[in-house]
Amino acid sequence: MKPEKIYRFKALLLLFLILFPASLWGGAGLRGFLPFFFQSHRLYVNRLCYPSESLQAAIGGEKLLSTAEENYLVFELPLMVPPGSGITLSGYGPSFTLPLHADDLILGFVFFPDTCVTGKPVKIILSPTIPLSELAVTIDEKPAPLHWGKNNQRILYLLYPVLFSRSKSHVTVKAVSRDNQTVTQSFDISVRPGPYEKEEISLGAVFTGNDGLGDIRSYLLSYENKKVSRLLRKENPFSRRGYHDFELPLKGRVTSPFGRIRSYNGGRYAVYHKGLDIGGNPAGTAVFAPEKGDVLCAEDFYARGMTVVLDHGLGVKSLFYHMDSLAVKPGDRVKKGDLLGCVGTTGFSTGPHLHWEVRVNNIPADPVSFLQSKDSVRLSGFLLRYGEGLLY
Ligand SMILES: [Zn+2]
Repeated sequence: MKPEKIYRFKALLLLFLILFPASLWGGAGLRGFLPFFFQSHRLYVNRLCYPSESLQAAIGGEKLLSTAEENYLVFELPLMVPPGSGITLSGYGPSFTLPLHADDLILGFVFFPDTCVTGKPVKIILSPTIPLSELAVTIDEKPAPLHWGKNNQRILYLLYPVLFSRSKSHVTVKAVSRDNQTVTQSFDISVRPGPYEKEEISLGAVFTGNDGLGDIRSYLLSYENKKVSRLLRKENPFSRRGYHDFELPLKGRVTSPFGRIRSYNGGRYAVYHKGLDIGGNPAGTAVFAPEKGDVLCAEDFYARGMTVVLDHGLGVKSLFYHMDSLAVKPGDRVKKGDLLGCVGTTGFSTGPHLHWEVRVNNIPADPVSFLQSKDSVRLSGFLLRYGEGLLY
C-alpha cells in the first residue's frame, strides 16, 4: 500500500471511531428531549413533557393500555388499525391527535369491516411490517385459512354462509415475532342476512326419489357429492395465483340469483341456491373461464350434469354445472376467457342454463360480488345490470 493510501485509511478509521459512538449517544440523547416517539410498536410519551398520571391514548375511541417506565408512559399499539387512524392523546391540556404510520403497527393499516353480509365475501390483506414466526386468524374459534400474497402479505377472506345463524362473529388475530413476543387483537363483527328471497320448489318423482331407481340414484349421487366435496376441501394455501378480477363466464339472463332460500315440496327452508343461474342462451353457447385457474375436475355427473371445477387460488374455486360439452380436462391451466365448454341442460336441469358457483374456503359466495370488485359495473366492454336480471 502506498503511504498516502495508508494515511487516508487511518483518517477514515479515526473518523468512523469518533462518529459511530457519537451517533449512538446523539440518538439516545435526542430521544430524551422528544415529547413522544414510536418504537417497537409502542408509543413512548415523555413524562417530563406530560407530567400527568391521567394521560390517555386512544385509537378510534378504543383506549390503549399503558405502563409507566422511568421517564416514559408507554402505550401498547394494536396489531393493526383501519386506514387513516390516528392516536388521540388526552388528559393533559387540550387533546390532540398524533398521526400513525403503517410501520408503527405490526400488521399496518387493515380494513376490517364492522358489518358483514351473509354470502358477500370481504377480502382482507395483512401486511406484516416485521418478520413474524407465526400469524394466525381465528373466526368464531375456528382457524381461518391465510393465503400468501405479494411481498409477504397474507390474504384472508371473511365470508359467512347464507344460513349463518348468529348475528355476531368473533375474530382474533395473533402475531408472534421472531423473538417470541405474542400480540393478539380481537373484535366482533356483526353479521346481517343478505337480501335473499324465499322460494318454494315442487320437484317431480325423479328428484324426490319416488321413481323406483332409489339405489342407483343414491349411488350416483353419493359418488358425485363425495368427489366434489373432496375437491372443494382441497387446500392450496401457498397459491399466489389469485387476483380475482372476474368476468362473466357468459352473458345472459339471471334465471335464479344466488342465495334464494328454498323449500322443496313444502319442506323446511333449509337449503339455498349456492350459485347464479344464467339462462337465455340456447344449448351450445360458449362458456368462458371468468378468471385464470387450474382445472380440478371436468366430468359428467348424474345431478350436476357436465361439470367443471376451477381452482383460482387464495381458496377461491368456481363450479360450472349442466353443460352440454366440455372443452377442458383435469390438470389443464386456463387463462381468463379460455373456453370451458358449452351451455346445456344435463343433470338435474329444466332447460339450458349455466349454474355458476363460486366458493371461498368451501363457503358459497355470491359470484356477482367478485364482478363488482371492479368498483363499477363495467366489465371489459359489457355492462352488468344485475338488478334488472340481465347480465350483459
Ligand atoms: Zn343453479
